[in-house]
Amino acid sequence: MTSSTPARTALVVEDERTINDALAQRLRAEGYTVEQAFDGPSAVDLAASARPDVVLLDVMLPGFDGLEVCRRIQAARPVPVLMLTARDDEADVLVGLGVGADDYLTKPFSMREVVARVAALLRRVERAEALAADRPAPLEVGAISIDPGTRRTTVAGEPVHLTPTEFDLLLCLAREAGQVLGRDRLLREVWDWGDAWGSAGAARTVDSHVKALRAKVGAARIRTVHGVGYALEAI
Ligand code: CA
Repeated sequence: MTSSTPARTALVVEDERTINDALAQRLRAEGYTVEQAFDGPSAVDLAASARPDVVLLDVMLPGFDGLEVCRRIQAARPVPVLMLTARDDEADVLVGLGVGADDYLTKPFSMREVVARVAALLRRVERAEALAADRPAPLEVGAISIDPGTRRTTVAGEPVHLTPTEFDLLLCLAREAGQVLGRDRLLREVWDWGDAWGSAGAARTVDSHVKALRAKVGAARIRTVHGVGYALEAI
């Protein structure tokens, strides 16, 4: 955030009050306006009334769970969502479900990490909006057509519904179709992660999203180069 940017609103959804309060306090210290919800139904209501710029969302919640909250708020209005998960395998499930979560953090996480991820999500949204305003020409890679302006994708003429992260990942691979892009580079360009964040969890983030993307555009179109990264093939 720069000083010219109006305060961003973050919605923190977590039933454990100490964690919720700690997140809220830290985000307020970073200049965010913060709303807090402690169960599923009130999170959906607050998302509608407070119109947050970003949502931090715990998975296990009373009422209905974080997956359902994510689906409902994304159906009403697209907003970047950072899921807070108890385990790595829970994160895999989330990505596979395509509920619209843009990123996730596995507990326990540091407050510094939370702040960095929230800022990265907001930068991605701003970048996507700037790109849409430029009205660039659609990219064609084999049977896939990707329109960065409208953020629509078709495969063999059929529309494919991608989450914001899947779209950004596909666009990044498509810009250098046929070339192998390393996980580090994808993390930087798609997730806006700094080099200092390299970890097993980071590699899993890329792998989980590639898996979900493959299921939608055709597995053969995304080639794995073991130990290196991924390439989009023009087929
Ligand atoms: Ca919880």
